Formats: sequence, structure tokens, C-alpha cells
Amino acid sequence: MQFDCDANATYAPPPEITELFSASLKVLSNPSAMHRAGQLAKATVEEARQKILMSVGARIEDSLIFTSGATEANNALIGLLTSKHQGVVTYATEHPCLIETFTRLASTHGNPVTFLKPKPSGEVDGDEILAAVNERTKLVSCMAANNETGVVSPLHTVVSRIRHSAPHVLVHSDASQLFGKGCLSFRDLDLDLMTISAHKIGGLQGVGALVIKKGIHLEPLIVGGAQEMKLRGGTENVPGIFIFGAIAERVTASLNERCTRMSTARDAFEAIVVERLPGARINCATLSRLPNTSSITVEGVRGDDLVVALDLQKILISTGAACTSGKREPSHVLLGMGFPLADALSTVRFSFRADLSVSDAEYVAQRFCECVERMRQVVLMGKRMEFKKTGTGTESDRNTRGVGI
Ligand code: PLP
Repeated sequence: MQFDCDANATYAPPPEITELFSASLKVLSNPSAMHRAGQLAKATVEEARQKILMSVGARIEDSLIFTSGATEANNALIGLLTSKHQGVVTYATEHPCLIETFTRLASTHGNPVTFLKPKPSGEVDGDEILAAVNERTKLVSCMAANNETGVVSPLHTVVSRIRHSAPHVLVHSDASQLFGKGCLSFRDLDLDLMTISAHKIGGLQGVGALVIKKGIHLEPLIVGGAQEMKLRGGTENVPGIFIFGAIAERVTASLNERCTRMSTARDAFEAIVVERLPGARINCATLSRLPNTSSITVEGVRGDDLVVALDLQKILISTGAACTSGKREPSHVLLGMGFPLADALSTVRFSFRADLSVSDAEYVAQRFCECVERMRQVVLMGKRMEFKKTGTGTESDRNTRGVGI
């Protein structure tokens, strides 16, 4: 049996995906075609759009454009900035697809872009945003929940403070991680734009959306077709969109139960880790977090060694964002929060699925603790041998070098 504890990377589809997938093949026509098959595909896309708008608590008059994922939806924000004088304020701990979108905007067009740091605890609040916003600021972007630490931003407060002090500013949130793992209401949060992704809730990869409040003007990122209100040219991914709509509806209908299952399993896991592993720190544990996410810094071992060790036990975890975990690089999120390099390299992320039981989570915790204990033994033995040979060897060596399995 395999334990997928990497649900923030991709929430692998539930079993009913097979049935949804075969249903989606029946509407596999081009929605721009005039014939009946095309019109059926078009109606399918529109129905999915309505389901998703409802699921994220948008108003009837708000719109949603389908994209190839959250990455594209975040890139599409470029279309809001029509002059090089318009500024952006965001965080250094956002997903790389948002950070790089605005880094490129600043370097290519010279727009003023500010990347804020959260507090060392991982907390974000309106103070730093309001201090950075000025009359040139066109957009503030603040993610709803962080994919690595799971910290949920106090968006309601942040947005209302921006509305009060800087009413000229548009507010966007990347809600890819909060959708399906917490209450999310585009309307109640009073957002202008919001990003979501299908594969973070059990839909297919390669589908996402940008939700747009009525009246907001955006230049298209992809031209060459009239699809998606001329905002995103190209034939729609009809099967992916159909499944996104169906899954969004199901996930929303069972949200409370899902969240309770996730947090019960996660808490059982963390209780064992805290009790059994000295020198293990659950990051941001005192903040509001996604119910399924546990970021743990384990003194004295390398995060990537732990990922490999647990993979051999059929337990899938990650050192952070999937896009960076293939590389031996420290997480920009943890560094952005002010983590020392050694701690950032010694951090792993568990992100549980809703179908993981408490006993599964306890099993995962025991295997995790055993791996850490074994690695620490190896480190200790290595240090003793080094000491015998040379009479040297320091604590910091141990932390930065890590050990094999
Ligand atoms: N934004 C956040 C917060 C994410 O966690 C991810 C995926 O890791 C993305 C954006 C990118 O999503 P997609 O794979 O749909 O492009």
C-alpha cells in the first residue's frame, strides 16, 4: 500500500474520476462549432463554469476564465497592468509562478514591484501591505494559503483594510491551496480576482481558472481566439473543465467533513512526531493552517534524504513546492520567512488527503520517526569516526551536510 502525503502538490483524483472521465468523452467536441455536438460541448463548459463560480462563492455577475492551471491564471494578471507606472505589492513567499510573473514585469517594463516578507512566524497581515501601497499601486496579491507551510492568510481583514485605506487598489488572491481545504468565498472576501487550480482538489492537471469581479478590465494573455470572452484564446479543455466542475461541486458539498478528516489525521500524526522526536519543530503550528498540511523541521537531517527514505517505504512526501523539490535548493518560502539555511534544508512537508485515516497517519508518523532516528544514528557514527580520525567535526557540519540513508 502507498501513502500519498503529498496532496498539496497534486490531490490525486478520487475513484469516481473514471466514471467522470468516460462521461466527459461524450462531450468531446469543439465548443466553438455551430453543430449540435459543438453546442453540447459549449453547454458543458458553461455548466462547469457556473458550478465552479458557485463553489467559490462568486456573485452571479462575476466571471471566470478557464486556463491551463493556476500558473497561467497568475500569469494572466499581467493583463491588468497597462502602464509601466502601475505598481504591484505581493509577498516573497508566494508561489514561484506569481513571483516570476511580476519579476519579469519589473525587469522588462520597469513596473514598481514590491515583494514583502511575512513575519518570522510565517504570519502575514495588513500592516506591511498598507505600508508598501502608494498611489501608483494598481494590484495587491496575497495568497489565501501557503502551499508549503499551510498558513492561511487573514484575507478578510487584509482586504477590508486595503479597501478602507487604498480604495484604488485591486486585490487578487491565489486560492489554489485553500479551495477544497477551507471556507472560500470570493464575494465575502471582497476580492477582485482569484486563482484556482483543478488538480489541487482532485481534478485533472492542466486546468485552472481566474475568477474576475464584474467590471474589471483585463488584457488577454493568450490571443488568437475569441474563447473565454476573448481573454484566453484556444480551444477549451472540455473534459478537464467538465471534471473540474463536477469535482468542485462535490468537494464543496462535503467541505466540513473533508476538513475534519484531514485535520484529525494531521493532528494524530503531529502528536506522535512531537512526542517521539526531540529536535523536530512543527512550523507555524500556532497560526491558522490548512487542515491537511504539516511542515516539519528536523534538526540534524536533510529534508531531501528524508523524502527518499520515506519513498522507499511507499510514503510520498515533499520538501516543499513540487516545482522546486526536484532540485536540491532550499525553499524560498522558508528563506523568505527568515529560516536559517540549515533549517530550510532540514524541512519536509506532509500534506494529507481526506481519505487518509487516523491509523494511516499514525503509521506514517511512526515510519517517519524511525527514519529520522536511523539517520541521526548514522550521523552520530560518522561524527565519532571523524573524531577518531582527525579529532575534529562540528555541530554545523552535521546540519549542513546531512547524511545518506
Ligand atoms: N499556486 C499555488 C499556491 C500552488 O500551490 C500551485 C501548485 O503547486 C500553483 C499556483 C501552480 O498550479 P498549477 O499546477 O495549476 O499551474
